[in-house]
Amino acid sequence: MKQPTIETGKNHSGLEITPVNKWLKGTKKPIIISGPCSAENENQVVNTAKEIARINRAHIFRAGIWKPRTRPNSFEGVGEKGLGWMKRVKEETGVLTATEVANTGHVEMSLKHGIDILWIGARTTVNPFAVQEIADSLKGVDIPVMIKNPVNPDLQLWVGALERINNAGITKLMAIHRGFSTFKKLPFRNAPRWEIPIELKTMFPDLDIICDPSHITGNRDLIPLVSQKAIDLDMSGLMIECHIHPKIALSDAKQQVTANQLEEIIENLIIRDSAVMNGNLKNRLKELRRKIDELDDSIIQNLATRIDITGSIGEYKREKRITILQINRWEEIMRKRTAMGVAMGLSSEFMKSMLELIHNESIKKQTTIMNRDAS
Ligand code: PEP
Ligand code: MN
Repeated sequence: MKQPTIETGKNHSGLEITPVNKWLKGTKKPIIISGPCSAENENQVVNTAKEIARINRAHIFRAGIWKPRTRPNSFEGVGEKGLGWMKRVKEETGVLTATEVANTGHVEMSLKHGIDILWIGARTTVNPFAVQEIADSLKGVDIPVMIKNPVNPDLQLWVGALERINNAGITKLMAIHRGFSTFKKLPFRNAPRWEIPIELKTMFPDLDIICDPSHITGNRDLIPLVSQKAIDLDMSGLMIECHIHPKIALSDAKQQVTANQLEEIIENLIIRDSAVMNGNLKNRLKELRRKIDELDDSIIQNLATRIDITGSIGEYKREKRITILQINRWEEIMRKRTAMGVAMGLSSEFMKSMLELIHNESIKKQTTIMNRDAS
């Protein structure tokens, strides 16, 4: 195989990639990968796969056979016997199968049972020893491999994992963006940090990136929002967890959807018609909208944090029996923030209305806390 070339002037090596449209023939983007978080039993796997096949939207069926769980004594996957169920899925629905591998044993068993596509999970990508072990066991094997981003927001670690697998001769490579761990209060389970997959795509324009809105959101209601954003950023596809009975799933119950919900999510996606827009205009518009989306996300997150903090102040005032409204403090906030907004080109009317709205919401929150005494 052709070894990756070192591109002069850049501090990373090239990747030799066979894009997904060259090996997954006849599929239009977005590529849809769906299936349960975990294989739990034969009926759940086969019936979920049949439901997904019925809506006829997915190109690849996924299921976790070995589950990396944060805490011990959680459901850690059914192991090798689940691979036989995946084989049945392939025979009965004709769809390609994919599973997560974290060591040589997993790779060998998956290959033995005819799994079509492997992926490396976020908790494995962080560990170069583990990734190298998987790479070594894949030497001489022609199988597509998808690499999830590491749990921590470290682009180089993600690139390093892609390089290790590529160096083993795997060219059918894809990356999966599943978000990053964070302490920050977010509406999501994992912070999307869109700038990281965008940077990866800039480094490797041929690399297909699949977005995993299930693990980013951790919440089935937010999956459409994140899926649309991924499509707007021109990502190649989506990996969405789907379960025959999501609510009783043994792992990730809050983020799995039924096949009908999956169908609705995919049907409602707005796939932009790139042909009608002139290239430059499209990119410029996209870039500006991306910035707006990011700013709106951070405004909402900061507002939620601010209201939360006023809640803690409310608790303190309740304990110390201090009044909610402290007029001096409020007047000072109004004056300073309005002056700052005006200095930055915002009108004083806008600043006043916005601050009043925020203030009212804070008072409401503190009143609820105070009223706990009365009830
Ligand atoms: C999964 O896909 O079920 C999984 C464990 O994902 P991640 O590695 O992104 O946490
Ligand atoms: Mn999962």
